[in-house]
Amino acid sequence: GSQIQEIPEWKRQAMGSAPSFGYKRPENATMREQRESLPIYQLREPLLDAVNDNQLLIVIGETGSGKTTQMTQYLYEAGYSKNGRRIGCTQPRRVAAMSVAARVAEERGCQLGTLVGYSIRFDDCTSPETEIKYMTDGMLLREALIDSDLRQYSVIMLDEAHERTISTDVLFGLLKGCVQRRSPHDFKLIVTSATLDAEKFSQYFFSCPIFTIPGRAFPVEVLYSREPESDYLDAALLTVMQIHLLEGPGDILLFLTGQEEIDTAASILFERCKSLGKNSAKIPPLLILPVYSALPSEMQTRIFEPAPRGTRKCVIATNIAEASLTIDGISYVVDPGFAKQKVYNPRLGMDSLIVAPISQASARQRAGRAGRTGPGKCFRLYTESAFTNELLPTNVPELQRSNLSNVVLMLKALGINDLLRFDFMDPPPTQHLISALETLYYLGALDDEGLLTRLGRKMAEFPLEPMLSKLVLASVDLGCSEEALTIVAMVSVDSVFYRPKEKQAQADQRKARFHQPEGDHITLLAVWDAWKASHMSNAWCHENFIQQRALRRAEEIRKQLVTIMDRYKLDLVSCRKNYVVLRKAIVAGYFLHAAKKDPQEGYRTLVENQIVYVHPASSLFHLQPEWLIYHELIQTTKEYMREAMVIDSSWLRDLAPRFFKLADPNQITRRKRKERIEPLFDHKAQNQNDWRLSRRTKPK
Ligand code: ADP
Ligand code: MG
Repeated sequence: GSQIQEIPEWKRQAMGSAPSFGYKRPENATMREQRESLPIYQLREPLLDAVNDNQLLIVIGETGSGKTTQMTQYLYEAGYSKNGRRIGCTQPRRVAAMSVAARVAEERGCQLGTLVGYSIRFDDCTSPETEIKYMTDGMLLREALIDSDLRQYSVIMLDEAHERTISTDVLFGLLKGCVQRRSPHDFKLIVTSATLDAEKFSQYFFSCPIFTIPGRAFPVEVLYSREPESDYLDAALLTVMQIHLLEGPGDILLFLTGQEEIDTAASILFERCKSLGKNSAKIPPLLILPVYSALPSEMQTRIFEPAPRGTRKCVIATNIAEASLTIDGISYVVDPGFAKQKVYNPRLGMDSLIVAPISQASARQRAGRAGRTGPGKCFRLYTESAFTNELLPTNVPELQRSNLSNVVLMLKALGINDLLRFDFMDPPPTQHLISALETLYYLGALDDEGLLTRLGRKMAEFPLEPMLSKLVLASVDLGCSEEALTIVAMVSVDSVFYRPKEKQAQADQRKARFHQPEGDHITLLAVWDAWKASHMSNAWCHENFIQQRALRRAEEIRKQLVTIMDRYKLDLVSCRKNYVVLRKAIVAGYFLHAAKKDPQEGYRTLVENQIVYVHPASSLFHLQPEWLIYHELIQTTKEYMREAMVIDSSWLRDLAPRFFKLADPNQITRRKRKERIEPLFDHKAQNQNDWRLSRRTKPK
């Protein structure tokens, strides 16, 4: 790309030259050999027989045995996609869906998006020809909204089921129904995983048979730290260098928690290798390859290519390399024992991503990555006693630690009203379900009876969090949907502001030029408008320290949203710089994120009275208005509000009457009355005053 000058040296090296995504040549001998050498190949016939004989099947096999890439092809070859039906395969991760589809297209010698395609949120790479379709589990869930019997599929493979994402867990329940409604000749369900409690799964799925693909794992020697590490990143980098300098041939896989950490690690390693190389010619080059979801696709395929002769590969990846992607040739795994995980704070009603210890199951899975092609070693950067005593045996299903408002809305839209009786494999805590119902009620998506309203039905059509879809729908009424879609798209992508370490001051200066007194949402709109005015020029992005890629993605998202608006005949109208209506639309979606300036310090959230701060990168950092709403909270040293916007407190009452009312005038002074609006429902007095209970027990 033309932004190459912004890409640091280590990254450029990792990107290599030609992208290998997409069309290659027809299936050649080596490709066939490779396919036939996979463990699953020996079991092709018995596997197809088992699918033929059973409507439901659980398939367990080591990561890398060929489940994801081969089973769909076997099914295709056996004619399961005849009569215009498709073979669907879900993946918990976007990157995995894309990467696996690209690989299978390559194996079949076809262009991606023809016979083999993928569909992820805001990116549908399929066509009427597509017979093998990879998709995120979230996308299949959305498809179930349109057709709960999923008639376009003859087989669905719920892959990586052990990940237990919310969408996969909900699909378990929905597809069970599908299996019962559709005939065994017409529809098959296969649940696939590397490591799952097969018995438990079988029991849940009507005691269906379990098909096991024997592993081909080599022994992996596990080494623990003797003392707990105070800085795992530092320890990890030292370990990688030690392996590189002291251990025999074989590639290294290092697990870190996220993009920023991975980029930092990659650049430090790169510098260390460079300075080592100067002193000694004998040290072979170390090829550093980062892997995380925001990486451009050409870089992601590079990780699969063997390291050139005389070099060693060091892949630095998030959890994605734990089971979703298999990289051949790894002999050394460095496992600091952490991953970014979503945790739900029911008190705040929100999710946050935190770096938390992994489970024992994850640790075993990570170690296993070293023993795929030969004996390997796994360096655990924690003590053996920490492994035994501190790590949980398995991961907690996402459903039990997330904000459920999106899922609840979707289930309601599917006509499933009694959520407490939904057939969850492991039901979420009732309190989480209730707070999701509450949020949806406040947003107007549910009525007093907890039934879906017309607004709620429309909200469910958007592949967005309920607060964002409410924002969009409110903007239609308020006459500012053009701008609202832009803002929704802009807050849905990674930061558009580029802030390289060596030019921070300059980047901040440029960014400040975009700042709008109304706050970050309107600032993002200003960036978008300026980009459009520049005819989406690369040079403009470069000059203004703007991430071209984030804007391109925002544009993609916006386009998809426009398609949905068209489909439901929702008007696209511009507010023509009347930002008050636009801000009101934002408040209509985000009133639960209102905060008021605290006389002592920072702000107090209106719902929970929690102390929060304006993020230093916010355009409001120096303005500190009386009232604002935030898009999300992030926790670093303090609880920060990211993307904050100035509001007028009266808007809260007008736009969220179910949630806010003026305080009882008899009880407070006039001055207080003016400045204070209190939540209708007092969370602290829950037990004495539980209106939800009375609502639920009301006879229909
Ligand atoms: P499983 O689903 O059982 O974990 P996969 O079907 O994902 O196994 O992988 C089977 C084989 O295909 C592995 O050896 C893996 O290295 C290879 N493979 C998968 N994706 C790619 C890719 N994009 N490029 C090259 N090889 C790949
Ligand atoms: Mg797989």
